[in-house]
Amino acid sequence: NPVDQPQPDPKKKTLVVLGTGWGSVSLLKKLDTENYNVVVVSPRNYFLFTPLLPSCTVGTIEHRSIMEPIRNFLRHKKAAVKYYEAEATKIDYEKRLVYINDESPIKGDVSQTQIPFDMLVVGVGAENATFGIPGVREHGLFLKEVGDAQAIRNRIMDCCETATFKDQSEEERQRLLHMVVVGGGPTGVEFAGELQDFFHSDLKKWIPEIKEKFHVTLVEALPNVLPMFSKQLIDYTEKTFAEETIDIRTKTMVKNVTDKYIEAESTGPDGKKQLERIPYGLLVWATGNAMRPLVKDLINQIPAQKDSRRGLAVNEYLVVKGADNVWAVGDCAVANYAPTAQVAAQEGAFLARMFNQMAKSEEIEAKLAELSDVQEKASSKEARNQAFDEIKDLQKRLRRMKGVNPFEYSHQGSLAYIGSEKAVADISWFSGNIASGGTITYFFWRSAYLSMCFSTRNRILVLMDWVKAKVFGRDVSRV
Ligand code: FAD
Ligand code: NAD
Repeated sequence: NPVDQPQPDPKKKTLVVLGTGWGSVSLLKKLDTENYNVVVVSPRNYFLFTPLLPSCTVGTIEHRSIMEPIRNFLRHKKAAVKYYEAEATKIDYEKRLVYINDESPIKGDVSQTQIPFDMLVVGVGAENATFGIPGVREHGLFLKEVGDAQAIRNRIMDCCETATFKDQSEEERQRLLHMVVVGGGPTGVEFAGELQDFFHSDLKKWIPEIKEKFHVTLVEALPNVLPMFSKQLIDYTEKTFAEETIDIRTKTMVKNVTDKYIEAESTGPDGKKQLERIPYGLLVWATGNAMRPLVKDLINQIPAQKDSRRGLAVNEYLVVKGADNVWAVGDCAVANYAPTAQVAAQEGAFLARMFNQMAKSEEIEAKLAELSDVQEKASSKEARNQAFDEIKDLQKRLRRMKGVNPFEYSHQGSLAYIGSEKAVADISWFSGNIASGGTITYFFWRSAYLSMCFSTRNRILVLMDWVKAKVFGRDVSRV
């Protein structure tokens, strides 16, 4: 074993945490790492503040401003935490092993190995849903990771520059400047809003030739966008989009994607279905989540999970049903809550509190065993009585510790940016709900997300990006 690597303490249990997203990082933040040998495995060596990712697609915010290196934050933990930049490729539940692969471009002599665990937290999130629609993976761009946002930013610029290429036909110009977003959930809506902002404030100034043809269309299969928001805010969003000249095509389901057009089936007011071809230059696919193969494979190993379709079914303590000592948080877990950062963060924090208590209870149990031994072997009545009193005290503490309440999600509300310096918010207020949309809500949205950023460093960087974009405009270079 390399001498410079701290060895696991054989007296402590090994807790393996998969992922460095909202769920896992929120767990690691609150976890007392002195209680366990903590090992973190994730292909992403940073935490990503996803709520501001749509802003990175157009350069309102630079991506590094919303990334926090995992090393930076782990080094402040009380006890050392081991981090491996790798993808968990298989969890062997019976053998209590996680198989990991280094999938990064640089590989050493060893790039595949395994980690034994006593306790495992699965926080690997989800992948993009495509519903098996042909052509999506080949021609569409997703919006989940930093690389996706960069690819979108480049593609927007490429389309604009290619549209203005010498002798380009009108029809081709129109196609290239047609930006299609599929999925009217918050990801699709926020991206469409950001894109339209980019066009209004910067693109049309820098490249006036595209002014007449640049167009954003949002395609949604359901009768309206943002189904999780209240009716009033759905109407407000649709009205704002109409004013911003973003076309919303509801009741339109994409069935096929080629490199230059999508085929979508729309339902008219008379209920008649019609298949049409919609040419595009940029296609952003934002139709929600699907299970990762790692999660599917674990589900197949556990008989109690045979009916799980959307992720790992967990109980009220976030234990994966049918699997002792395995917990799941965030988008890969199904606990009857929406797959949001808010839920994942609360689940992670809950697990940290529970693990901290479990460690304390185990410590007390060990002490109790020691004391009952002392009591048995005590030679004087006085020593026996003293041990008895201490045991009673500890038993009381233990009972208090073991009374951990189950996980309960507390919904703080939903927020989304819709472009033109407007946002919508459904905020839980005492037992009621406040729905608001507009410019004041936009300032609330900005301050709420700024305060939620991972670190002060992130907060300052985001603030500086906002000022920079306002003063100098967004950068339109393609890299
Ligand atoms: P993630 O945050 O996705 O993290 C998963 C982690 O697992 C990553 O570190 C990943 O690298 C790692 N991983 C993946 N595969 C493996 C593997 N095989 N082995 C090990 N590690 C692995 N929610 C809100 O509440 N509010 C918002 O405003 C909001 N905005 C969003 C905007 C966008 C553009 C997107 C895409 C999502 C947004 N969400 C928002 C949803 C929110 O980001 C997710 O619900 C949240 O990220 C889920 O957290 P998680 O920890 O489950 O997964
Ligand atoms: P989503 O699941 O919320 O929405 C996807 C939409 O795509 C659905 O409305 C669905 O009807 C539509 N769709 C699916 N297939 C289609 C097809 N073939 N053609 C046309 N439309 C199709 O997905 P999302 O927006 O990526 O959000 C994922 C999760 O992240 C959600 O839980 C969401 O709440 C959360 N999130 C929250 C925020 C926020 O709070 N601001 C922002 C982004 C994401």
